Amino acid sequence: MKKIEHIGIAVKDINKANETFKKLFGKAHYKVETVESEQVSTSFFEVGESKIELLEAQSADSAIAKYLAKNREGIHHIAFAVNDINAEIKRLKNEGFTFISDEPKRGADNKLVAFIHPKSANGLLVELCQDAE
Ligand code: ZN
Repeated sequence: MKKIEHIGIAVKDINKANETFKKLFGKAHYKVETVESEQVSTSFFEVGESKIELLEAQSADSAIAKYLAKNREGIHHIAFAVNDINAEIKRLKNEGFTFISDEPKRGADNKLVAFIHPKSANGLLVELCQDAE
C-alpha cells in the first residue's frame, strides 16, 4: 500500500457538513459526486497530500444510512492507495481478510475500489483504491 488516499466521513447533511469543513480547512471542497451504485452523495476536500471524503446517504438502503442508524456521524472508513488492486485483494485474502465484494467496483473520484469487512480488520472499514484508467 502506498499511502492514505482519503478518510471517509459519514454525515447526515452534506451541505451543512461542506460549510463546516470549509471553515475547518480554509477552503471549499473541489468536487461533488454521486455514486449511484452505493446510493451516496460525496464531496472531496484536499488537505495537503490527503483527502477527506464526506458521504451522505441518498436512500434508506444506502450503506451510509445503515451506518448512521447504528453510529454517530464521523469517521466511516480509511482508504489506502494501491498500485494493483486485484493483486492486493488476492494478497490480503491469502492473509485471511474478508472482502465485502470480491471484485473491485467503480467508486467516486475515478477510482476502482474494494472494501475489507471491518470484522476482519479490528473494526476498521478499509477501502483499497487504485486510479481507474
Ligand atoms: Zn472512500
